[in-house]
Amino acid sequence: LAEPPAAERRVEVDLDAVRHNIRHIADVVSPARVMAVVKADGYGHGARQVARAALESGAAWLGVAHIAEALDLREAGIEAPILAWLHTVDSDFGAAIRDGIDIGVSGWELDYVVAAARRQQRPARVQLKIDTGLGRNGCPPELWDTLIGRALEQQDAGLLRVVGVFSHLAVADEPDRHETDDQVRRFRAAIAVAEDAGVDVELRHLANTPGALSRPDTHFDLVRVGLGIYGLSPFHGQSSQALGLRPAMRFVTSVANCKEVPAGQGVSYGLSYRTTHPTTLALIPVGYADGVPRVATGAPVLVDGHQYPVVGRIAMDQLVIDLQTTGIAGTARSPLGHPAVLFGGGAGEPSADAWADASGSINYEIVTRISGRVPRTYL
Ligand code: PLP
Repeated sequence: LAEPPAAERRVEVDLDAVRHNIRHIADVVSPARVMAVVKADGYGHGARQVARAALESGAAWLGVAHIAEALDLREAGIEAPILAWLHTVDSDFGAAIRDGIDIGVSGWELDYVVAAARRQQRPARVQLKIDTGLGRNGCPPELWDTLIGRALEQQDAGLLRVVGVFSHLAVADEPDRHETDDQVRRFRAAIAVAEDAGVDVELRHLANTPGALSRPDTHFDLVRVGLGIYGLSPFHGQSSQALGLRPAMRFVTSVANCKEVPAGQGVSYGLSYRTTHPTTLALIPVGYADGVPRVATGAPVLVDGHQYPVVGRIAMDQLVIDLQTTGIAGTARSPLGHPAVLFGGGAGEPSADAWADASGSINYEIVTRISGRVPRTYL
């Protein structure tokens, strides 16, 4: 009997790669500083672990969507400055103030933050967000001076301090698009309005990863970088390596079963795939419950130095690859128990980009959606 593998399914997270990516991006954007975006459990990599690695290697700030995510970092003993920018009326603004978390404010949040500051008897730290063109949250430009006026009133009353002004880019992953120029222009105008009104704007930030890597005019004081710290490229057709980044996540399992089948064998639910020749099929024990996209038929899996395509439908717990193409079929050697890599950053390993292409998605989603059923191990 073969030795059982150390873990039957695992995501390996290379924190050295995270450190490398942070240092690289910090170099590119200097003198601007880096906010490591660790929302969504660090894009699936583990928010606490990535946050610590990022801070060790030069990140000055942490960014998350939800206050609850920021509170979790505080609970882990992380004391670095944190900004949380996406709220509902039920968000715990009081806890954010208590734990010294900066609150992104686009409009309605101001009243809630002020009420919470009164209850906490402590001023809130607020960063005002302007919508420069993305059309999600952020204050519409025509309401910006009103928001600034209201915030300054509360600042004078001792209930908050406006620490920064920020916005988010819409199309920076397509560097030729003119809308980024428009966003930069509107952002500069919004800063001028705030300063003219008397806000002491310590922190101005606009760039995400593609802005940080391709548009120095978006850098300002701080860049909010998510994808890049995980070592992935935001530019379609441009690899991580070409950008000097190292992918931090490797999704690995082992071949769970292996069998020779004749031509005409149907594979998986719906029998949407049928073998055209005698071949060997290998069963890979991960499926959509693990966060593998169900639509990713055709995506590559690395076994014994070769990439093989997923055939048939991906199921809840498992998928099948066809080993026929490079001739393992018919040989005596079975890959039962051999490592199977869905994606990673090593030589010959499929990339998260390949899985994104196979599933009509983006690498952001591929890494972020790997579910909690898959244990993370840290290198
Ligand atoms: N800033 C905000 C407001 C975001 O929502 C995100 C992520 O979507 C980021 C920064 C980081 O973006 P990226 O992963 O492209 O660096």
